[in-house]
Amino acid sequence: MLKELDQLIELQKIDNQLIEIKELKGELPQLVEQLENEIKELKEANQNHKERVKEIDKLTRKAEREIEDLEQKQDKYEDQLYLVTSNKEYDAITAEIETVKKKISENEYKILEWEEEEENLEEQIKSNKIDLEEKEKKLSKNKKKLEKTKKKTGAKTEKLKEKRKKVVQNISKRHLREYNRIAGARGGKAIVPAIQRYYPHEDKKGNIEYEPGEVSCSLCYKIVPPQKAVDLRSNDHILRCESCGRLLYWDDEESRVYGEEDEEEII
Ligand SMILES: [Zn+2]
Repeated sequence: MLKELDQLIELQKIDNQLIEIKELKGELPQLVEQLENEIKELKEANQNHKERVKEIDKLTRKAEREIEDLEQKQDKYEDQLYLVTSNKEYDAITAEIETVKKKISENEYKILEWEEEEENLEEQIKSNKIDLEEKEKKLSKNKKKLEKTKKKTGAKTEKLKEKRKKVVQNISKRHLREYNRIAGARGGKAIVPAIQRYYPHEDKKGNIEYEPGEVSCSLCYKIVPPQKAVDLRSNDHILRCESCGRLLYWDDEESRVYGEEDEEEII
């Protein structure tokens, strides 16, 4: 067998095991990361909300003090109204009173607005807290699951990765690029065995005999033309499936399939 073909098959066998491990972990790594991000965002949001609430309290207190001062001023002006001696003076004090009243009502309006904002913030803080608790529970559950799977598969993954590094060194850059390209586009399966089905039939004496069918790709079942099938068996060429583009090889054990089976096309 072509040495490089042998190494490509070896690489695929390693990758198949890595794919299995990845499938075992499923969506867990992404889910854990997503939950961690969401929790961080919720915590940050609540931190900001709480700071704003503090700021509003400060602003409100300041506005209340201002109102008190203004009310005192208003009282003073109103007292002065009794003592005026001219219309001009009367108008001037009345104008001052109006200005003070306007300032008071401006402050009162601001306080009302802040009250409303604070209420909304408190509500948000509360609902974020509930959200946060739920997400933290979910996170710890999924983290445990992921840890368990990692414990089970960690050592095996490391070994496979080490083995993979060595195998990759024996493959030319060109073939490695092709392998990666096909694997990326075809669900991780870049090189697959071709298969030849053997169909059973009874001879005149009642013995079961197997008759070979055509050779095809084992994943998409595209038939390999007879001349190419001869080359394929020699395993000294790298052949591509005409339909799915995967690399094909022949393996006496894997490639001979006896009897009929339901075929599920994998593209
Ligand atoms: Zn194919």
